[in-house]
Amino acid sequence: MSSNQPSSDDTPTTSNHDDGDADTPPCTCKIGAGINTYTQRGFHDEITRLYETDDVSLRDLEHRINKEFVTGAIRHTAATDWGVGSFDATPSEIVTALHDDSLPPSEQNRIVTRLEQAGIDSEELSKSLISYRTVKNHLNNCVDIDTSKNTEITRTDARNTVGWARTKCERVISRTVERLSRTGMSTISDDFDVTVTPRVTCNECGDSMPISEFISSDGCSCPTGDK
Ligand SMILES: [Zn+2]
Ligand SMILES: [Zn+2]
Repeated sequence: MSSNQPSSDDTPTTSNHDDGDADTPPCTCKIGAGINTYTQRGFHDEITRLYETDDVSLRDLEHRINKEFVTGAIRHTAATDWGVGSFDATPSEIVTALHDDSLPPSEQNRIVTRLEQAGIDSEELSKSLISYRTVKNHLNNCVDIDTSKNTEITRTDARNTVGWARTKCERVISRTVERLSRTGMSTISDDFDVTVTPRVTCNECGDSMPISEFISSDGCSCPTGDK
């Protein structure tokens, strides 16, 4: 997980990430506490690597860290034999259920109930989930990385975020279609697809294009100064 730094073999390290006492958080912020409770210490360095080397945005890091915490919480549930794979909701969906309000309440309740059934304190887990701000503070204060120069978005960053939002959107719509079908209101076979294809339209020049094209291009036909 954290072995992608081949150059620093003989550099003395100032902190003892991987050999540290397992009960001591790698840092004192909420992320450190979460790593200590739900994941392995190597994840601390992984966060830094994802940001510095893989150009993962703070928002995406927020999601990845929360997913990791949720996955850890499920994995630590020794009381049941439900592995992460057999759990009835993906870690992403659990993060959404606990951390933002974009799921319909019934879906949210279903996931919370499922967590409780698995012996996971959903309130505790929910409190452990972190925000984008926390990621920024962690990088700034615990790892000493200046995030201010990195606030500009890259095209890869944009593609990843849009892809993530599309998947999330398609999943919410699919579940709604399934529920409609299950109740017999609007029926469909079990094998169906939901496609979300976002477009961007400029209300000044009227240019309209798929978001993927927009991300790859230099934008609409408006003179640059007018945008
Ligand atoms: Zn920290
Ligand atoms: Zn335009």
